[in-house]
Amino acid sequence: MEIIIKCNIYMKKFIFDLDDTLYSPIEHESRDKDFYKNLKKDKRLTDLLKKTKENYIFTNGNKYHMEECIKRMKLKSLFKGYSYSDLFRGKYKPHILPYIITLERFKLNKNDFIFYFEDLADNLKTGKKLGWITIFIDHENKMRQKPKYIDMVFNNIYDAIETCLSLKISITKNSN
Ligand SMILES: [Mg+2]
Repeated sequence: MEIIIKCNIYMKKFIFDLDDTLYSPIEHESRDKDFYKNLKKDKRLTDLLKKTKENYIFTNGNKYHMEECIKRMKLKSLFKGYSYSDLFRGKYKPHILPYIITLERFKLNKNDFIFYFEDLADNLKTGKKLGWITIFIDHENKMRQKPKYIDMVFNNIYDAIETCLSLKISITKNSN
């Protein structure tokens, strides 16, 4: 006799905003001509992204800007997918359209646990509507009260990723 057990595989996926999320606006304040030159490899971030593995970038920046940042930070091999403003048909986050386009582009499963890292609260609001786990990166500790649509707040990307990596996900099934 053969017993077939159907099971879903629940995966952790990590979607990152780029600007002021993957690097700190405190260290990279000015957007002058030296901005790209000053972006360097961040060893601690690199090591963490090797552990998370299923990484994606979702930015309102254009393709040129994104590629330049990723190249300078030496992160290219650490992301499975990229979504940027050239693909968004004239809309930008927090408009829902870039999120829909991004979900399709990354071929994410609705059963996946999507951790979404952002420095702009409004962008997380739309992410929460899609069921994403929302993480606010508050580099300057400006947030006084956490809105309901934000799950976690950290003042740096490292603690944020480490915490999400260590989270145990348990699936509870309704039984009757
Ligand atoms: Mg940003």
